[in-house]
This record gives sequence, C-alpha cells and structure tokens, in this order.
Amino acid sequence: MVVNLCDYAIVMLGPPGSGKGTQVSYLVDLGFHVVSVGDILRSNGDTVIPGLNATVMDAMSSGMLLPDDFICDVVRSDMLNKLSSGDKHIFIFDGFPRTVVQAEYLNAVLKELSIPIKYAFNFDVSDDIVFRRITGRFSCASCGRIYNKFLCNTKIENVCDSCGASEFIFRSDDNEESLKTRLSQYYEKSKPLVSFYQEMGLLFNINASLSSDDVRREIFSKIGIS
Ligand SMILES: [Zn+2]
Repeated sequence: MVVNLCDYAIVMLGPPGSGKGTQVSYLVDLGFHVVSVGDILRSNGDTVIPGLNATVMDAMSSGMLLPDDFICDVVRSDMLNKLSSGDKHIFIFDGFPRTVVQAEYLNAVLKELSIPIKYAFNFDVSDDIVFRRITGRFSCASCGRIYNKFLCNTKIENVCDSCGASEFIFRSDDNEESLKTRLSQYYEKSKPLVSFYQEMGLLFNINASLSSDDVRREIFSKIGIS
C-alpha cells in the first residue's frame, strides 16, 4: 500500500462564513487532497459505497441527521480511494469532523493509516462578521459578479459595476433565520472540537476576520509554503 507515503493531515474548524472554503480552494490548487463529506455525498457517493445515495436520500427525506458512524465510513472509504489513486500526500478535512465522536473516529482511522494530524486550523471570527458576510452576499444575475451589501456594494445602487445589469440574485439559504440555526448547531456540536484539538496540542487559531489574502498568507506560512 502507498499509505506510508502520506505525510500528514490538516483539519479545518470554524463556523459558516469563516472563509474555510476559500482557503481550501487555494490548497486544492496546490494539489492537496481534500476530504469533504458534502462533496462526496453530492458527487460520487455510490462510487464510494454502493447504495449510498439511496441511503442518504432516505435519511434526509425523513429529516434525520446522518449517523456519526455512517459519515465516518464514508470518509474512510474516500481516503482509501484517494490514497490508492494518487501520489499527493497531504489531506485537508473540510466539514469533517463536525462532532467530538467524529473527531475520535478520525484519530483512530488516521492512526491505522499512519497519518498524523499536523494542524487543526481554527477560523476565529465574530458572529457579527459572519452575519454581514453571509446575509449581505448577492451576485449579478447577468455576469455572476459577487457583491456584499455591507462590505462591497455596487458603486451605483442596483447597477452591476462590471456589466451594468440591474438584476441580482440572493441565495435563499443565506437568510438570517437559516444562519442563526446553522450557527447554533455549530456552537452546540462543533465548537467543542476547538478544545479537543487544543488538548492534543494541534490547534492553531487563525484570525478569520482578515481578508482572504491575509488569511492565506498566514496559513501558507504556517505550513511552510512561500
Ligand atoms: Zn454584472
């Protein structure tokens, strides 16, 4: 097996709107492996575990959360697939673990594969900034340019700076009520992971209220990319 070639794993922690996804995309561009549960379930669930999509749809239609052990199996299978198909050596975990049970499982799987976690990056950002980033976000219906009504609005109200169109799209799940629910789930289930990784000596706080360029520089310098 090629598992011993694998150098280490990075865990990304932080609330919605903290900018994790943007930073993960920078690392993907550098060739890092990303293990994202959301992506696995959406794109190739049936390749990872036959019958997976049907199971997921059943669980979701009945309003149930997917069980920790099920999610953990999905992650493990995806990692084994990636290990057997490539020569890249660093795993980034995005959207997993979301609970302490999942984090304990991840520790066990990584131990089995001889892959140490080197960093748990905690994207630290205030609720106020999260609210402005997420609920203020909209895009031009014509050219797709992204704006934020609090942070970077159009220069002329209701006119796209790039193409002059005046129709805009607001994402439906970006509204305030939905965000409050997602944040309260984060505080209840995922925030305990901060002390979990702190106790393991792996936690690195990232000031996620800075611009994405500044955050990228901070992360790249921590992991030794210039
Ligand atoms: Zn436009």
